Amino acid sequence: MTLRAEKRGRRASAGRKGAPAAGAEGGSLSPAMRQFLEIKQGHPDAILFFQMGDFFEMFYEDAHLAAKALDLTLTSRQSDSNGPIPMCGVPCHSVDPYCNRLLEAGHKVAICEQMESPAPGKGIVRRQIVRVLTPGTVIDPNLLDSKESSYLAGLLPGKGGAEGKGEDAWGLAWVDISTGEFRASEIAGERAADLLLDELERIRPRELLFPRESPPPPALAGRLAEWGARFEERDPRTFPAGEAVARLADQFPAEEELPERAGAYPLAACAGAALLSYLRENQPGELPHLRPLAFYRVSDTMILDGPTRQNLELVRAASDGSRRGTLLHLLDETRTGMGARLLRGWVLSPLLALKAIARRADAVEDFVETPERREGLRRALEEVQDLERILGRVGLMTANARDLAGLGASLRALPAVRASLEGAGAAEIAAIAEDWDSMADLADELSAALVEGPPLVIREGGMFRDGVDPELDRLRLASREGKSWIASYGKSERERTGLPVKIGFNRVFGYYLEISKRFSDQIPEAYTRKQTLVSAERYITPELKRIEEEVLGAEEKAKELEYMLFGRLRARVAAESARILAAADRLARLDALASLAEAAALHGYVRPRMEEGAEIEIVDGRHPVMDADPAMATFVPNDLRIGGERQILIVTGPNMAGKSTFLRQAALLVLMAHLGSFIPARSARIGRVDRVFTRVGAHDRLLEGQSTFMVEMLETATILREATPRSLVILDEVGRGTSTYDGVSIAWSVVEFLHETEAHRARTLFATHYHELASLSKELARVGNLTVEVRESGEDVVFLRKVVEGSSDRSYGIHVGRLAGLPPQVLARARELLAGLEEGGDFGPLRAPGGAALPGSGVESGQLALFSPGPSLLETALAEIDPDALTPRQALEKLYMLKEIERKAP
Ligand code: ADP
Ligand code: MG
Repeated sequence: MTLRAEKRGRRASAGRKGAPAAGAEGGSLSPAMRQFLEIKQGHPDAILFFQMGDFFEMFYEDAHLAAKALDLTLTSRQSDSNGPIPMCGVPCHSVDPYCNRLLEAGHKVAICEQMESPAPGKGIVRRQIVRVLTPGTVIDPNLLDSKESSYLAGLLPGKGGAEGKGEDAWGLAWVDISTGEFRASEIAGERAADLLLDELERIRPRELLFPRESPPPPALAGRLAEWGARFEERDPRTFPAGEAVARLADQFPAEEELPERAGAYPLAACAGAALLSYLRENQPGELPHLRPLAFYRVSDTMILDGPTRQNLELVRAASDGSRRGTLLHLLDETRTGMGARLLRGWVLSPLLALKAIARRADAVEDFVETPERREGLRRALEEVQDLERILGRVGLMTANARDLAGLGASLRALPAVRASLEGAGAAEIAAIAEDWDSMADLADELSAALVEGPPLVIREGGMFRDGVDPELDRLRLASREGKSWIASYGKSERERTGLPVKIGFNRVFGYYLEISKRFSDQIPEAYTRKQTLVSAERYITPELKRIEEEVLGAEEKAKELEYMLFGRLRARVAAESARILAAADRLARLDALASLAEAAALHGYVRPRMEEGAEIEIVDGRHPVMDADPAMATFVPNDLRIGGERQILIVTGPNMAGKSTFLRQAALLVLMAHLGSFIPARSARIGRVDRVFTRVGAHDRLLEGQSTFMVEMLETATILREATPRSLVILDEVGRGTSTYDGVSIAWSVVEFLHETEAHRARTLFATHYHELASLSKELARVGNLTVEVRESGEDVVFLRKVVEGSSDRSYGIHVGRLAGLPPQVLARARELLAGLEEGGDFGPLRAPGGAALPGSGVESGQLALFSPGPSLLETALAEIDPDALTPRQALEKLYMLKEIERKAP
């Protein structure tokens, strides 16, 4: 239940009476209701769908909740001692969309089906929970994004390390039941809480399990709730410290090294075992498609914290959280869901080791340089469906014949995929090609068994080809022959009676003979009338019914047989899970690599040279997303040289000059290089980076709703604690969230710290519109200045977007104000004031009542009428603003302008 739903549930139950305990009401309730209460007791936190004939019914509190969430009519059933029992229901045949809506709203749904058909005198039908649906374990394709994984996570605090004797730590495990991905990690150390949050944010689980005694810390719970995660409090015994290894070994008997690895990460293993027990409780079957639990360390790949992922818009746009406008969207030219999900993982976890980066980049380069190979591969991949998700449905026994046919078609495409790799030299591609398994056996079996384009439902037959099963063939023959007999029976009746007899069929009374009413008086004796229509009547005969029974009987039996055969085929596929998963892995890797190559080719990227040294040198770099934006006329490329003796670069320049763009570009290019991608530049040398930090001053983040200076400072503090000489730090207007003096002072001391503290000498890009900061380069040896060029031509300022050495000594704020549409008299006055300031004057005299003269500012000219009895400068500026006509950014600029006016001339 999400926090929201939980609250709603509590509020509701305070006012109304929930379900009584089974037994308590025993006497007055029907047997079915008693059965309901008994089953409900085992699932108090789930909405129970209770099958009664053709409907799933909900009762008591569940009925209230569901009626509201699903727009169902609330009715009632017999009374208990509290009055009528609230009830609502949905038809069994269309239950899925209703469940999905409840899941999306963060609820848990338990499906209780009738296990036998009701028969007179047999008493109450047996009912049983067949499946419990939860937001973290959805597999319905309608609820899943093919390009994103969907995780259930488990969290356990305790002592880490082998035998659980180490430091305080968190065990974290997560599983995507729709693809079988299953991983676990132990997060320890001073910063465990932060790392855990970063990691959970990367995973964004839809549901989180934790032992009842150890709920997630409030800060974490708050973030999870923000993302809409559901919390599941579990019996601590389901986090079985002593048995975790055994349970994992039991689930993955073929994994000989698993027990040893699990022993080294006891908390992680325990969290993993807890997930298993939850899945076992709620899902049918043995979960054959789960991948063996893989242990990892968060330090294996580059750690990117939440603010950095957001600022750089790696996978979610800052504006609306969608994929559009993100780095991932730009790089995603994948052809399969498997490839898309893997690529997403790569973008969120760039590599650290130069060797691993080179291996990936070699493969990308191979595909860039041989377009035929890349195109061949991508064409072949188009025939491949989402093997992981199909296998997930197979494992959870919801796959239908179309899924298996899709699997078959995908496997048949494997040889073409393999053929496209011929001759590739890159080690990664060669390894994939060498390790190939075309699975012709399974592909052949599936195509031999299933018809082309089989139906979606698996209980209505029509899935298997003739010749697959002799008994099926016999039943089909019987039914076909019966049908042709029925057709010829119609013909013979026409001839015998001379009446226009037509044969028809409906579900209510089966086959019938239809004769126009005009002949009502000539109907033979043996005909029994069954139905009267406007102009015709329908009859049956004993002969017709006898054959019908044979036909329909055979048809029914054939359907049952097909259902059985299908179950067998599905189990056969499940038994091949490991091979199918391995194939899915290979395809995902190829798809993601080819996607990076395709993006590189499309947008004209180059391969960066990755180095051990500290320097980063990018020639003619472009911001990948802006550069590809068709709305952007021309993007001006810029160079960047940082590292070594140029440790810190202060980027000054007026508002709107392009500072932020330049900084983000630097971070994005470095990240792209570390995930093995090519980058938008003419050439680049990149000295290995262990982490990229980006912070954006409160002002620039207002649009995201996080505007407090406190957040800005907290985030800056994290950087100062964690940045190493290997890191790349991007500080964009940090210090801006406070007054100018505070801001300049904080910015100044942050730069000093990064310069002077050996352990934290990170390569740093610091953008600021406080041009005062440029003088830092005079004091600190490894600080340099950059500025974004602007050209003045008369009144106008032209933004050149070119980053050059040096600093800007003016802010051009007035010009930006002009661009933003400030009224001419305000601009003129601002110019005057600025001129005064630049001559060393100050605003002192402005405080004089009635707006006394400002020395040397030409009061005599009469322009200062603004300050005399009439409206103040502030009032004039305010009056000119039309809030509805402003973009958020413009509004913000105006606000700053107003604050500035207010501060200088109260
Ligand atoms: P600042 O941070 O200096 O206020 P931004 O980086 O936000 O400026 O850039 C302002 C606008 O200028 C961007 O929205 C973009 O449209 C444009 N811009 C920035 N850099 C470039 C560039 N290199 N080439 C073309 N346009 C650019
Ligand atoms: Mg900016």
